[in-house]
Amino acid sequence: MPIAPNTSRRAVVIGGGPAGLMAAEALAAAGVAVDVHDAMPSVGRKFLLAGKGGLNLTHSEDFAPFVARFGERAEVITPILRRLDGPALREWAQRLGVETFVGSSGRVFPVDMKAAPLLRAWLARLRSAGVRFHQRSRWQGWADEGALRFAGPEGESLVRADAVVLALGGASWPQLGSNGAWVEPLRARGLEIAPLRPANCGFDVGATAAHPHGPGWSAVFVERFAGLPVKPVALHVEGTGGRRFERQGEFVITATGIEGSLVYAASALLRDEIAERGQVNLHLDLLPDRDAAFVAAEVARPRGPRSLSTHLKSRLGIEGLKAGLLHEMLSKAEYADPAVLAARIKRLPLTLVAARPVAEAISTAGGVRFEALDEGLMLKSVPGLFCAGEMLDWEAPTGGYLLTASMASGRVAGEGAVAWLAQQG
Ligand SMILES: Cc1cc2nc3c(=O)[nH]c(=O)nc-3n(C[C@H](O)[C@H](O)[C@H](O)COP(=O)(O)OP(=O)(O)OC[C@H]3O[C@@H](n4cnc5c(N)ncnc54)[C@H](O)[C@@H]3O)c2cc1C
Repeated sequence: MPIAPNTSRRAVVIGGGPAGLMAAEALAAAGVAVDVHDAMPSVGRKFLLAGKGGLNLTHSEDFAPFVARFGERAEVITPILRRLDGPALREWAQRLGVETFVGSSGRVFPVDMKAAPLLRAWLARLRSAGVRFHQRSRWQGWADEGALRFAGPEGESLVRADAVVLALGGASWPQLGSNGAWVEPLRARGLEIAPLRPANCGFDVGATAAHPHGPGWSAVFVERFAGLPVKPVALHVEGTGGRRFERQGEFVITATGIEGSLVYAASALLRDEIAERGQVNLHLDLLPDRDAAFVAAEVARPRGPRSLSTHLKSRLGIEGLKAGLLHEMLSKAEYADPAVLAARIKRLPLTLVAARPVAEAISTAGGVRFEALDEGLMLKSVPGLFCAGEMLDWEAPTGGYLLTASMASGRVAGEGAVAWLAQQG
């Protein structure tokens, strides 16, 4: 977007996560003076945490399936992702000296699987472009006459700007700075905010056969298996209104239920079903690579003096956690009946009764509704105020989609602010 430098104009970006930094980059590139305020002592803390998992920056799949990951928001997010899609993000990282590679699952990571070198190089480039950072500066809302109110170590300060980009994140992992407290000041300005909900989150299980008065696993099961992965396994959920999920992968047993990649992938459906009906029933296929007839024949095979556990282990490789799950979920009578046992191995019912709190989730659903924003992500009712990142009302599974959409929307909001400032003359 060729726009003449406009140093007489000042923009404030609030939130120094990937969305805010990308907005600052777009503003500084157009010659606008930018001040980034962040509540924490340093910026990009969640970005750095993502680095602990290797920093899954984006995904290598084609644009159409990539966009489809955003479900109901696919249409509104399409023009945003066109401004910074997977290949463009990889190029952007390369220009910061960070090479990326495509992992076996199609996910894209920096070659060194770290976030810190990328963040360091990015901040250095932003500083040299004139971006100024104000840490420990928590935005509190607006003063009566419209100035931005910040709380810092020296007390409260008021700041005025010609354009403001809010990139305040969601409400997950509040210890890293994003706590969702922005909802109230925005609601007070008459904005409708979709309730913040956990996304890519774990769930609590209901009663089990071994813990019939539930909710939750039996103490013995937790002691032996919490923290261990169930794999390979397929998870199948039949939701209301034709929504369904069926996929193979792995998940982890927690003290109160389940979490991990396969559960995160199903989490929007699981969460919505629980919100609507109080609970959701799913089915696990503990042997997704074996068909039901094979499993039934192997379970029914004469086992002589061998115990049933030894039989399952030698004939089907079911032992450890998978054997523990069968003991946890089946009554003694079900376990002893070969036909029922075989059927349950292929279709083990599990009831989930609650999503874990948003503070524990990987990301947040809900937020500022797209209907309230123009194509430059400016609030239609508050000219000069832009929003970007996870605080917008979209959600996506893990796989690099969250960072890509956060950064793409940061760029769109930053460019939107540049265009708006130019229009103001
Ligand atoms: C454990 C974990 C691992 C993850 N791994 C990945 C991954 O590999 N790939 C991926 O795509 N996504 C991953 N994510 C998600 C991804 O990190 C987020 O979607 C992304 O950081 C959102 O960017 P954002 O800039 O919108 O918000 P944030 O990164 O949350 O940044 C918001 C910033 O705003 C600041 N802030 C908030 N409120 C205020 C206020 N009132 N005043 C001033 N400043 C404020 C915060 O301090 C913070 O610095 C992961 C998340 C978690 C929790």
